[in-house]
Amino acid sequence: MQLPLRPASFPPGMAVQARPARLKSPRLIAVNTALAQDLGFSQDWLASQGAVSLFSGQWQDETLPPMAQAYAGHQFGQFVPQLGDGRAHLIGVATDMQGRIVDVQLKGSGPTPFSRRGDGLAALGPVLREYLVSEAMAALGVPTTRALAAVMTGETIWRDRPLSGAILTRVAASHLRVGTFQYSAARQDSEALRFLCNLAISRHYPEAASAENPARALFEAVVAAQAGLVAQWMSLGFVHGVMNTDNMAISGETIDYGPCAFLDVYRHDKVFSSIDRNGRYAYANQPRLAGWNLARLAETLLPFFEPDEERALVWAQEALGKFSALYETAWLDRMRPKFGFTRAQQGDKALIEQFLAIMEEDRLDWTLTFRRLARHELATDKAPSPALMHWLDAWQSRCASEGMSVSQRETLMRRTSPAVIARNHRVAEAIEAAENGDLSVFHALLARLARPYEDDAQYETPPRPEEVVQATFCGT
Ligand code: AMP
Ligand code: MG
Ligand code: MG
Repeated sequence: MQLPLRPASFPPGMAVQARPARLKSPRLIAVNTALAQDLGFSQDWLASQGAVSLFSGQWQDETLPPMAQAYAGHQFGQFVPQLGDGRAHLIGVATDMQGRIVDVQLKGSGPTPFSRRGDGLAALGPVLREYLVSEAMAALGVPTTRALAAVMTGETIWRDRPLSGAILTRVAASHLRVGTFQYSAARQDSEALRFLCNLAISRHYPEAASAENPARALFEAVVAAQAGLVAQWMSLGFVHGVMNTDNMAISGETIDYGPCAFLDVYRHDKVFSSIDRNGRYAYANQPRLAGWNLARLAETLLPFFEPDEERALVWAQEALGKFSALYETAWLDRMRPKFGFTRAQQGDKALIEQFLAIMEEDRLDWTLTFRRLARHELATDKAPSPALMHWLDAWQSRCASEGMSVSQRETLMRRTSPAVIARNHRVAEAIEAAENGDLSVFHALLARLARPYEDDAQYETPPRPEEVVQATFCGT
């Protein structure tokens, strides 16, 4: 079969050809058939040896050279001028049924010229974690890279203990990151920056092409996309974990799932990542840090905003200044329906914030509490706190002003507050079973995550105390 892939093309210096590691006995352990078919892979081919070969990096075709992309980035606030794909190979671009062009990339497929001290490999656990969480996010309607396939390499890799090696194939609207722009800006390569702007506009924001100043329109579009994305994360209790500028996609998709997690018990300052010692990327810091990353993006585009540097800065500051208002609007738009509100009213924000404060004080589970609010179960709880009872009264009166039937409201709330998310203890359980050779737990969880809005007494349950996952580790 002719593969539905075309080679990616980049100007010199922005990407290098790189060969995935040779493997003796790779084994395909998961394929996203619906996504693969949407990209033009046939069912027969997916069941053939070709699929194992492609998704393990063993496919050989001189017209389709795998590439590693260059990028820089601020890691926990520190600028690193050269990062790049140290363990990833872009194997081509595809066009989906809607005509959208996407990147197809292997992750964990061996060292590249950007590997620095790393081995270029990925362990089974992080590969399955990214597979599960990214597919859960997609089912929740959050912009995200997708998981196309997972392979076990058949080789042992060394971390703090020997682990099974694995490769994730992921699909992204593009792999352009804030850090990609920073890479070219640090080299004062305005040709490359122009190329990146054009690529980002044609792939993600075509309407910016006809703007008076396309670079300004691009920047404004990225600001709006990130405000919307982070608002969705916040409404779902999602903590990305490593919002370095190299892990923020220009497309507005969630990218680079490492030590990410959904909240169990709500704490505004919750951190899961064991490497985030100062809590830089704590749950409640995410909107502010997204704004910080966008400022770094603006710095790379200043000469395109306006030839005069001072005036460019003034324009950039104004454009960046819109982020908070855009974020707050997007956040309220995501939160209101979780409370059954269809119309904006004075006092909504205060009422929502009171609820969050009570959740935090009462140590309630983020996801289940919203779901139980929708099911009218909170008041009949074992021992609702006086603050919660009081709040529920205020909420009832606010609801009364909507003129919706109880069942209409419940439908709205159920549609915006999922029952089933990729709970940390479930993900951990799936990974542990897989490490012991049993992939059935992973596949069952994956299937269940595709239907997040259906109640499920088994999968919606928060962890028992002994099941709580305190820290998730960086995606290595
Ligand atoms: P991450 O923390 O996964 O966003 O990665 C940050 C940088 O480290 C990127 O340039 C990665 O390509 C690189 N990197 C992460 N893990 C490895 C690895 N095992 N081998 C080589 N490079 C890696
Ligand atoms: Mg990083
Ligand atoms: Mg990364």
